[in-house]
Amino acid sequence: MRIFPTNFYQLLPRQITRSIIFHGKREYRNLFLTFDDGPHEICTPAILECLKELKIPASFFILGENAVRFPEIIKQIQMDGHIIGIHGYTHQSFFFLKSASIREQIEKTQNHIELFLGKKISFFRPPYGRFGWNTVRIVRQQGLKIVLWDILPGDYKLNRTISAIVDQVVMQIRGGSIIVFHDNLKNPDKLVKSLIQIHQQAVIEGYRFVSLEKLTND
Ligand SMILES: [Zn+2]
Repeated sequence: MRIFPTNFYQLLPRQITRSIIFHGKREYRNLFLTFDDGPHEICTPAILECLKELKIPASFFILGENAVRFPEIIKQIQMDGHIIGIHGYTHQSFFFLKSASIREQIEKTQNHIELFLGKKISFFRPPYGRFGWNTVRIVRQQGLKIVLWDILPGDYKLNRTISAIVDQVVMQIRGGSIIVFHDNLKNPDKLVKSLIQIHQQAVIEGYRFVSLEKLTND
């Protein structure tokens, strides 16, 4: 779901990348769980139930158009203590969008969510992880930070098995890793089972799942 590898952005000048987060501090055994593309009427509640049972926080990078359709799920995400970030109003690459469209995509979603929840949004993740300098500039003006990831287990691929997802995450996790899943899958069962196994393994290895808010505080 991305065109450029994450390390493409690490080659950009520091002036551009300083507001982009790829992972938390490596010296702490903290993990950050994130979900893109929701809320979805079946998948998101299933994920929320799973997170509640595991007692772990997560962040949901939502699409504005889905938030408008499923306000009760947005409320539930907040009530359960998770973070809501912005993924765009619709799911399209920001890389070729004009500034006015980028601003509209972000502002429309941000205004809706902040008004609806009465809470400031802090984080933004561009669809496909693709964006240019204009996005960085506008995101900064809106008071947001860009959060990418360092682990993408491909849960959205139909033929990806639970063990392939779990094995990849367990193999790649390091202190501060940001893992991205997608809560718009028609069948959330694979995702729920993967999460349970990943959590089990991560805890054995001494990791803990923490809120994205820890990214800016630690
Ligand atoms: Zn996405």
